[in-house]
Amino acid sequence: MTRIYNFAAGPAVLPEPVLEQAAGEMLDWHGSGVSVMEMSHRGKAFIGIAEQAEADLRELLAIPANYKVLFLQGGATLQFSAVPMNLLRGKKSADYVNTGEWAKKAIKEAKRYGAVNIAASSEDRNFSYAPPQAAWKLDPNAAYLHYTSNETIGGVEFHWVPATGSVPLVADMSSHILSRPIDVARYGLIYAGAQKNIGPAGLTIVIVRDDLLGAALPATPSLLDYQVQADNGWMFNTPPTYAVYIAGLVFKWLKKLGGLRKMEEINRAKANVLYEFLDQTEFYYSPVAKSDRSLMNVPFRLKNETLDEEFLKQAKQSGLAELKGHRSVGGMRASIYNAMPAAGVKALVGFMRDFQAKNG
Ligand code: PMP
Repeated sequence: MTRIYNFAAGPAVLPEPVLEQAAGEMLDWHGSGVSVMEMSHRGKAFIGIAEQAEADLRELLAIPANYKVLFLQGGATLQFSAVPMNLLRGKKSADYVNTGEWAKKAIKEAKRYGAVNIAASSEDRNFSYAPPQAAWKLDPNAAYLHYTSNETIGGVEFHWVPATGSVPLVADMSSHILSRPIDVARYGLIYAGAQKNIGPAGLTIVIVRDDLLGAALPATPSLLDYQVQADNGWMFNTPPTYAVYIAGLVFKWLKKLGGLRKMEEINRAKANVLYEFLDQTEFYYSPVAKSDRSLMNVPFRLKNETLDEEFLKQAKQSGLAELKGHRSVGGMRASIYNAMPAAGVKALVGFMRDFQAKNG
């Protein structure tokens, strides 16, 4: 068996001990004689798995008791619709911060349900920075403010939490949730697709403050109504059981590692190795403003773009996979999520140094 270093943006690398445990439990989960995939979601065994997963996530993020945690389906993309459907609550418009590809998609969907005020944008500099709060034009009557706290494609991360007064703050944290501690109480709602730092694709996590529930637009499908999902213990229909189980194993892995403070320390050290290398070479560069660089998604470019294809080919031959940047922006991108070992980042930098020496 050969495992490669997988720098994919998502679905992405998962912790090896988690995969090993899942493999060991595949045919017979804890003496039940069945795989988790084959269990009823209403049975005692799975209910136990689900409750433990939720409890561990609550502990990891220190989620206050007045927040519901929902394990849903449909990806972060479905939340682009669910958020306005649930949170407009009779108001006419919502504020959005436009920081790149994912923010734009969220804005496009929101416009189907109400007016959107672009409170801030970084489009003027090709989405290469997080617009500073001082430049934001907030609407005090907005139903909520939505921002993408880590732009997976652009590699721009907010290292600060926006202040929105009494307007609920909503964050798409898909690509950096669980990478470091967050103060959940600052948010009205947080959502994230699982396939980066949480587990397999097919699971979407929503963390929502109680007072925002119960006023969904009348046409909201029951499945998308947070109140309905909360009332039914996020099992209004069959949840993605196997994905919930793997997520639960990932939460245990994080707890064993020392929780999110420790995870942040490790992530900072990993990202520093790559950024420090990028900043001292003339051969490669990072297109992102230094203060807003993502610890999870690191886009970088070769100054001589005619070498891009050769770079990717040789990287793959060296066991470094999925380094091609998103098709909308080109260049390279290394996604170095929680489960990417420090050795993977070191191997990448070593390869980049060699490639430069041969081609620089
Ligand atoms: N938001 C962000 C920040 C993302 O990175 C992604 C997926 N890469 C999405 C939303 C969409 O997620 P999904 O494919 O789970 O709908």
